[in-house]
Amino acid sequence: MIAEPTEVLQDEASLQIDENGNLRHLLTLKGLDKTLLIDILDDAERYLTEPGRVPASSRALAGRSVGNLFFEPSTRTRASFDLAGKRLGADVLNLDVNTSSRKKGESILDTIYTLEAMQVDIMVVRDASAGVPAYIARHVQPHVSILNAGESDVSHPTQGLLDVLTIRQHKGSFGNLAVAIVGDIRHSRVAMSVSQALTTLGVGELRLISPPVLAPDPGSVPGAKIVDTLEEGLADADVVMALRIQRERIGNLDGIPGIDEYFANYGVSQESLKLAKRDSIVMHPGPMNRGIEIEGVVADGPQSVITQQVTNGVAVRMAVLDRVTKSLAARH
Ligand code: ASP
Repeated sequence: MIAEPTEVLQDEASLQIDENGNLRHLLTLKGLDKTLLIDILDDAERYLTEPGRVPASSRALAGRSVGNLFFEPSTRTRASFDLAGKRLGADVLNLDVNTSSRKKGESILDTIYTLEAMQVDIMVVRDASAGVPAYIARHVQPHVSILNAGESDVSHPTQGLLDVLTIRQHKGSFGNLAVAIVGDIRHSRVAMSVSQALTTLGVGELRLISPPVLAPDPGSVPGAKIVDTLEEGLADADVVMALRIQRERIGNLDGIPGIDEYFANYGVSQESLKLAKRDSIVMHPGPMNRGIEIEGVVADGPQSVITQQVTNGVAVRMAVLDRVTKSLAARH
C-alpha cells in the first residue's frame, strides 16, 4: 500500500458534525452524541420491511452520487452500501481498486479529488491505515461527505450501529445488559466501534474475552472488563458476540493458540453458550470461521441473530446516507 502523509489529527468527533449540529461525515462512534445515535437507529428501523416484502426505498438521494472506495476486502459492508445507495435513488459507483490509479502510485487524495470533480457527493472509504477517513474528510470540498467503512483496527462505525440496533431489537434497553465480546479484540475495529456505541447507550456490563495475546491495551476500552476465560466472560451474558482472528493484521502469529485449542477455550459452541443466559443472542459481524471462533450449529441455531445483523446493515447505511445528504443539502 502507498503510504499517505501523516499529520496531527483534528478531533474526529467534532469534524463529523456540521455547523448546524447535523452529521456531515461518519468517521467514528467515539464521542457521537447519544441522541444522534438513537436517532440514527430509529431512522434505520423505518427502512426495515418484513422478509419477502419489497425492501423499503425512497428518492431521498435522487441525483446524488455515492462512491464506494474499498482498499481492503469486503463482502457485507460494500454490498450493503451499494444496495443502500440504490434503494435511496442514488447513482452508486463501485470503484475497482485493483485497477484504480492508486495502484499506480496515485495518492488517495488525488483519487478523491478526481471523484469530487465528477461530482460524487458521498465517498464510502475502507482502508488498512489508521486515520485515512478523517484525513480525507479534512481535505474534501464542503459539499462532500466521507463515511468510514472500516479503518484499520481502529473503527467501523456503521458495523457498531447495526450491532446496537440488533441488540436493541431483541433486548429493548441497554442498562441491564451484560454484553460479552469474544475473540481477537486487539485487532478488531468492530469491537472498538460496538464498545463505543454500547458505552454511550449506557450498557450494564461490557466484557471483552480473549487469550492474553489478543487482548486490547488496558484502558483502550474505558469501562470494559477484560477477561481471558469464557467461564468468567460468558457467565449469565445477555449478548454473545464472536469475532474472528484478524490474521491480516497480525505480523507474528507466535503465541496464538492453534485451531483446536482456540476453539476449546474461546469458541462460542453449544457447550460454552450454556454459560450465558438461556435467552441470550449470538452475534458475529462476518466473515465467520466456523469451527474456530464459532460452532456451525450455533451460527445457524435459534439464538443466532447473524443474518438479522446483515439485514440491519442495509437499513443503518440507508439511515446514515440519508442523514449526511440532509446535511449537505442544508448547507448548499
Ligand atoms: N467484517 C468486519 C470488518 O471489516 C469483521 C472482520 O473482518 O472480521 O472488520
